[in-house]
Amino acid sequence: MFTKVLLFLAVVAGIVFFFKIKDKKSIEKQSDELVNAVEMKQDSVCGSFVEDTTKHKVKLNDKIYYFCSEECKNKFIEEHTK
Ligand SMILES: [Zn+2]
Repeated sequence: MFTKVLLFLAVVAGIVFFFKIKDKKSIEKQSDELVNAVEMKQDSVCGSFVEDTTKHKVKLNDKIYYFCSEECKNKFIEEHTK
């Protein structure tokens, strides 16, 4: 029973890891202009600056928008999908 749980956890961890790599690669492909170091981007909802490595971002019309939080991201999506 315990071995089964461990095996299950290992599989889940493997899947999560795989998708993280896939996600990272596709983002790198999409944004050739964001090659090197961390760049600061402005959150268009609240105006604060965030690193472009943030996970709170959205791609819209081939442009990537960055946000300080999930809350700002959701606000942005809400406003642009009306
Ligand atoms: Zn914000």
